[in-house]
Amino acid sequence: MSTHTELDATVDHEEVVIRRGERTGQPVIVAVHNTKLGPALGGVRLTKYDSPVSAVVDALRLSRAMTFKAAASNNGTGGGKSVVPLLPGGPERVDGQFRTSLLLDVADVVHSLGGRYIVAPDVGTGPTEMRTMRMRTPYVGGYTITPEGIPATTHGTAGGVERALLATAQHLWGTTNLDGRTVAVIGFGAVGRSLTEKLIKRGATVSTTDIDESLREPAEAVGATWIPLDTAHEAEVDILAPCALGGTLTPALVPRLRCKAIVGSANNQLSTDSVADSLRERNIIWTPDFIANAGGILYASGIELQHLTPEQADHRLDEIAETTTRALERSHRDGVTTLAAAYDLARERLAAAETNRP
Ligand code: NAD
Repeated sequence: MSTHTELDATVDHEEVVIRRGERTGQPVIVAVHNTKLGPALGGVRLTKYDSPVSAVVDALRLSRAMTFKAAASNNGTGGGKSVVPLLPGGPERVDGQFRTSLLLDVADVVHSLGGRYIVAPDVGTGPTEMRTMRMRTPYVGGYTITPEGIPATTHGTAGGVERALLATAQHLWGTTNLDGRTVAVIGFGAVGRSLTEKLIKRGATVSTTDIDESLREPAEAVGATWIPLDTAHEAEVDILAPCALGGTLTPALVPRLRCKAIVGSANNQLSTDSVADSLRERNIIWTPDFIANAGGILYASGIELQHLTPEQADHRLDEIAETTTRALERSHRDGVTTLAAAYDLARERLAAAETNRP
């Protein structure tokens, strides 16, 4: 399922490779959108698609979004993405030796790009798959697991959303103190859970929900209140934190929202760009998802590409607070949506890289 934005319309990619895997015969699509700021970093999506065309479109769209995400977060990387589509009539299951072969096929394509593209986890893949690909190519990120046993990307994403949320609080209330503030975290998965724990530690009152009812007990165990899923977005809270799926902020939902701000990890939260205008009209601050959820790439790139210590990599997440503040202030100053302000920040960084290129 894809969410379309103004950015989708353009095919301005540096390179798109579609190759049949030598071992499995499966198609591997790699889209290198932009390398002006560094090697194109982006996950490999291993999932079902209705048609090869929809898979290519997704690779084009997602790689472009990665350019803006990396530029906005100042990660020193460009934007890319790969897609391994599981197509109708193709293999139903991707496991065992076939899975390994498929990952090595992807790694071959990645390697052939000579470091212009760095593959990372996305839907259908994680650190384990990245370690398999590292047997074949060094151009792999997101393979690190923290001492607590969670993927470095998850650790970074949760820490980044926390910083974006604090910067949003500062913008709203002139303080990052969350004592007595209320937050609804929608989606109690890896990021949602970690974020909930962090916010409770900071004194916030957190409610949460998930499509998976079995998560109610662990959520309550960490001190969150479980709320009904169907009305969760309409909860009367200070901040809504979408941490499940994208596309949930729709034109129909905006009039029903009862929060002051929205900051979460879910990708592509707006069902369409015009929702940013509606949110602005309702005076609800939306911190763009691609700023708030960039902590995964910042932290993992810090450890794996820049060889930082975990403490130094954590420090990189502070960049998210700064970018959030800049985007929100700019939106306020220029009378534009936070989405437009965030795109402008990213475009400026890309333009500066263009100017400085020898
Ligand atoms: P996850 O799979 O661990 O958690 C997602 C949770 O959402 C699951 O518990 C799932 O049951 C729940 N969910 C699914 N559909 C739902 C629905 N309709 N309503 C409520 N809950 C629903 O994933 P995650 O790693 O925690 O990531 C959460 C979101 O953040 C995803 O959108 C992901 O794309 C995005 N994100 C994650 C990272 C990362 O590093 N993990 C980075 C950037 C963006």
